[in-house]
Amino acid sequence: AAAAPAGPEACALFLARLPTVSRAQCEEAQLTPSGALSAHGVPLFWRDVPAPVGTGAAEAPLRVLIAGAIHGDELTAAALALRWIALAEQAGRPVHWRFIPVLNPDGLLARPATRTNGRGVDLNRNFPTPGWEKDAPLYWDKRTKRDPRRFPGKAPLSEPESQFLHAQMAAFRPHLIVSIHAPYGVLDFDGPLSPPERLGRLWLDQVGIFPGSLGNYGGVHRGMPVVTIELPHALNMPADAEVRSMWRDLLRWMGEHWPEAPGTEPRP
Ligand SMILES: [Zn+2]
Repeated sequence: AAAAPAGPEACALFLARLPTVSRAQCEEAQLTPSGALSAHGVPLFWRDVPAPVGTGAAEAPLRVLIAGAIHGDELTAAALALRWIALAEQAGRPVHWRFIPVLNPDGLLARPATRTNGRGVDLNRNFPTPGWEKDAPLYWDKRTKRDPRRFPGKAPLSEPESQFLHAQMAAFRPHLIVSIHAPYGVLDFDGPLSPPERLGRLWLDQVGIFPGSLGNYGGVHRGMPVVTIELPHALNMPADAEVRSMWRDLLRWMGEHWPEAPGTEPRP
């Protein structure tokens, strides 16, 4: 990653909004500013965990992008992405992980926290699915009755946060995107692979396709598999054992689909 400008430190900004994340856990995650900023000018922080040298595929590792809190009021989504950074470091797999635990810092830091970004846009309706100009406003008008929490924006990729994730799809070229949400307590999947049946206690329930959503854009139109995790609560974190169980199941499923990235079986 290119050198990023100095900015507010991630834990000073976010720690109070991350359920069950300790200061030590936050600091060990070593989030750094990506250089991109939210609509309100807050840094979009990230952390790369590269494939360790000597894991076989270190030259051409599997690339996995994990994004949390696309919706700013889903605090557990940010916390889970952050907690998984430590597990990725311990995993020792031939996988290059890129974590963006808080894609929507404006929403996360608002009081109260908001689903939308600083300009009132639902970022998960702002991706450039084909026909967006017609379908996204129509869906918002007819199906959501102009719910301000689901405003898709005035144009696809109108927002700096969705632009940033879109740019990462081109720059990082992930084999897999994991998008973490709450509170529906299910697992969703879009893309060309057979989906994971479950992650921990979350079972697959493909809930549908929305104009401008990341799953629709990445999975359906770009052919990049998108695992969408919907945690059961937006404010109450799953137990530690469940945090690890979901991670192990994700690794196991990855190992089934990318056997060229060996060793994705969980360690005891
Ligand atoms: Zn959400």
